[in-house]
Amino acid sequence: MFSYRHAFHAGNHADVLKHTVLIATLDYLLEKDAALTVVDTHAGAGLYRLDGDYAGTSGEAVDGVQRLFARPDAAAPLADALARYVDVVRDFNPKGGARIYPGSPFITHHLLRDHDKLKLFELHPTDARSLDANIAQLDAGRQIAVLREDGFGSATKFLPPPSRRALVLCDPSYEIKSDYTRVLDFVTGALKRFATGTYAIWYPIIPRPEAHDLPRRLKTLATKAGKPWLHATLTVKSSKIVTDSSGAKHRPGLPASGMFLINPPFTLKAQLQAALPQMAELLAQDRNAAFSVDSGG
Ligand code: SAM
Repeated sequence: MFSYRHAFHAGNHADVLKHTVLIATLDYLLEKDAALTVVDTHAGAGLYRLDGDYAGTSGEAVDGVQRLFARPDAAAPLADALARYVDVVRDFNPKGGARIYPGSPFITHHLLRDHDKLKLFELHPTDARSLDANIAQLDAGRQIAVLREDGFGSATKFLPPPSRRALVLCDPSYEIKSDYTRVLDFVTGALKRFATGTYAIWYPIIPRPEAHDLPRRLKTLATKAGKPWLHATLTVKSSKIVTDSSGAKHRPGLPASGMFLINPPFTLKAQLQAALPQMAELLAQDRNAAFSVDSGG
């Protein structure tokens, strides 16, 4: 347990999908004046250097956010949601390029107003220390709470918040098979406490039955609760094991991922229908690149 470090993956295609959805959702929820509480159950370190040791080891951002920054000026304009994502990352890189990558805590804080609240859960000792240090620089006082606690176990204590407006981002590393069940149990419990909150769950699409079952089970949960849902996926390459010229077999890195939302903004589907084809085209690693967006309720 706990070998996952998000720094190796920061800014990859999954982050492009997740953070584009996060920003579009926050923009919508922040249109109303009433205070919003954002609960980030699996926060990571908060901020990443894409030219640092971790990101350099796998270079996943090269095939993610950095492809968006490398587009020629004359390229066709990006869809609004994707352009907004690029603008937010650009805000963290005033000298140009994408050398600093904001994780969900920094993206969220960047968009929140002074009267909104952010609750961050992170269990990995090293990432929790980095998160503490990164958040301390924001001087955000009581607006942000960093908790070294199990996000699955204790994040529901903040639900419902006093203003009864919240976004819950559930973004585990799925290092252990039980994470899939824990997501479902967590969302089930959270919905019981606070049925009108917006829930956004990221998950990897990998050849593992639990990964395929999770969106189906979330759909059933939302439908039984009578809540609207939205499911978006982005595939950048085939999931097949590749055999190289020496006969060695290689697992491809993460080929695809999905975002499942309960009580999504009603504007999100149209935004993603415009942005996802561009994401699939710009982030494609082979001919299997694809996307889907589906909704119900
Ligand atoms: N949400 C972050 C972002 O978008 O920038 C990335 C989070 S990363 C995918 C998942 C994080 O969850 C890792 O940093 C891991 O250490 C942490 N983690 C794993 N199990 C946890 C748990 N039960 N509670 C809280 N954090 C946990």
